[in-house]
Amino acid sequence: MKRILVTGGAGFIGTHLCERLLQEGNEVICLDNFFTGSRRNVQPFLANPRFELMRHDIVDPILLEVDQIYNLACPASPVHYQANPIKTIKTNVLGIMNMLGLAKRVKARILQASTSEVYGDPLQHPQTESYWGNVNPIGPRSNYDEGKRVAETLMMDYHRQNGVDIRIVRIFNTYGPKMLENDGRVVSNFVCQALRGKDLTVYGNGEQTRSFCYVSDLVEGMVRMMNQDGFTGPVNLGNPGEFTMNELAEKVLALTGSKSSIVYRPLPENDPQRRRPDISLAKEKLGWAPVMPLQEGLVPTIEHFREVVAASLLEKD
Ligand code: NAD
Ligand code: UDP
Repeated sequence: MKRILVTGGAGFIGTHLCERLLQEGNEVICLDNFFTGSRRNVQPFLANPRFELMRHDIVDPILLEVDQIYNLACPASPVHYQANPIKTIKTNVLGIMNMLGLAKRVKARILQASTSEVYGDPLQHPQTESYWGNVNPIGPRSNYDEGKRVAETLMMDYHRQNGVDIRIVRIFNTYGPKMLENDGRVVSNFVCQALRGKDLTVYGNGEQTRSFCYVSDLVEGMVRMMNQDGFTGPVNLGNPGEFTMNELAEKVLALTGSKSSIVYRPLPENDPQRRRPDISLAKEKLGWAPVMPLQEGLVPTIEHFREVVAASLLEKD
């Protein structure tokens, strides 16, 4: 049993990770400022004596005795990270410095939740970890993209200079139950629009691609990365299945049985055209590959949003 800190633990991925770590018998400290995460997400764990919930912002230092740190704290969707871009940079830069300082002091191993956004609008396809990316440093997404890139730099420098035991995972688009309805992500938007009988809003011509990883597959990869020795990463974690947004819209319509139509809206600025992980390194080093196809992972995701939509309709009555 280990004592494990999960920052951003009350968010979408964090909640699934906390659940998994508790199931394995660990003590989990979930630290969150509740910007996009919620107490409701972790409510089922509160009765567990091995679970502790702390309201704290990682921009401020903290001292805790822990063996491992998973640093997930950071809003992940464009609507939320662009709501207060300077705060997002502070979370990515000052926040990781605080967590690295903590890891150094208590000799904890630290895993950083980095992102495929470090590749920007990639010129190499699919993306391998050796690709340095094509990122606009002054665009509306750069607070997040460049923030995450600096966080990787800090991880590597604390490792080289101070011997901190680090792990970096680059997460590609992840979906599943407990995604936020209002985060503007394509899966949550399409599913909620379909369930509410509203038009599905495809941005651009819908031929841009993404690769969607089911959240339990991602969590498996993160835990494997944290618990292996001798490989710091960065390593891509994602599902290499590549779909256009038009294909995703059709799948959502078929699985929900919705009669909604598809409408086309302008493509947001700096929206990457293609994204697909090369996961050869994760296969080699971690023996990891995702097992949940999009078609199957959408089913529990749709069920989750059915409950969310039904609850919001009841509130309106
Ligand atoms: P999320 O928004 O649901 O979770 C982020 C959590 O961090 C929330 O609970 C939020 O309240 C908390 N938080 C934000 N700023 C904080 C701060 N300063 N101090 C403390 N807590 C703070 O997002 P998610 O999808 O669960 O993403 C988790 C991590 O994974 C993020 O770091 C994100 O960048 C990364 N990631 C996610 C995806 C994805 O597809 N979901 C893809 C790539 C990377
Ligand atoms: N998108 C869309 N309709 C929506 C929301 C998003 O067509 O209602 C598109 C978006 O332009 C992008 C893709 O879906 O090309 C994935 O967007 P998301 O925000 O989920 O992830 P990211 O762009 O961060 O990969």
